[in-house]
Amino acid sequence: MIALKAVVLALSAVSALGHQLASRQPKRGCATEISAAQKDAVEADFAARRTGLPAKKAAPVTIPTYFHIIRAEETVDRGDIPESQVIAQMDALNAAFVNTPYTFELKETTRTTNETWFDVASPWGDDAVYQDDMKATLRRGGRESLNLYSLGFTDVSDGLLGYSTFASSYESNPQDDGVVFLYSTVPGGSRAIYNLGGTVSHEVGHWVGLYHTFNEGDGGEEWDTCDVSTDLVDDTPAQLYPTNGCPERSDTCPDVPGDDAIHNYMDYSDDVCYNNFTPGQVERMIAQMAIYRGL
Ligand SMILES: [Zn+2]
Repeated sequence: MIALKAVVLALSAVSALGHQLASRQPKRGCATEISAAQKDAVEADFAARRTGLPAKKAAPVTIPTYFHIIRAEETVDRGDIPESQVIAQMDALNAAFVNTPYTFELKETTRTTNETWFDVASPWGDDAVYQDDMKATLRRGGRESLNLYSLGFTDVSDGLLGYSTFASSYESNPQDDGVVFLYSTVPGGSRAIYNLGGTVSHEVGHWVGLYHTFNEGDGGEEWDTCDVSTDLVDDTPAQLYPTNGCPERSDTCPDVPGDDAIHNYMDYSDDVCYNNFTPGQVERMIAQMAIYRGL
């Protein structure tokens, strides 16, 4: 019975992940999604507020960071990440953002034993109540503070590595703000290929206001056109679908100038492949953070 429930949950998770786990089966699963209607509204608001934004120098900004470890038991393979890996994750995050104004400073690590949160909390359907509970219990700080939650997603999906809220979502739902990710993706974790800390860097990319570099439509659906670049950043070329692995090069939109941004943190490549945010992405994150997080 328990096994059956796990299968049903996994199947519903796969359908919620949409194209990412269906057609081409890239292994990285990110469940950060936005509907087309929401995105239109958010981007109209952003464009209007950005126009009135005073020119801002990219001054260094320190972001208070709270690292919430949810464990099913007090063992590493049931989520109890050792402090050394917490530090290594913070280092990986700061290395990823080295060419941005942002430095993430660990304020507190919390450890909570809760098997239900560890196994089934997710953004989807009935299980969302568990992640809502978790965030209501643990979230610290205001709109300027990053809250990271490590979970197992054990009964949710094999492919899910993480998800985040966007900077622009804070105003309407402050309690939901933060990044949720698979505990074994921290540096030295057991999730091979994805255990250099790239998942947290990718999700924090959403948290500072970035979309995926590949083209997405409503709620993360795949687009079949290269005529648009749905991340609204000029220097990431149009890309038809996510990268899987770490190919030598890839160009899914050959009629549009520029190769796919396979080394960009907002693609789906393996951790070892990640090495940059573009100047256009940094420009967008500075405006997003100023407008929606007051930083
Ligand atoms: Zn993502």
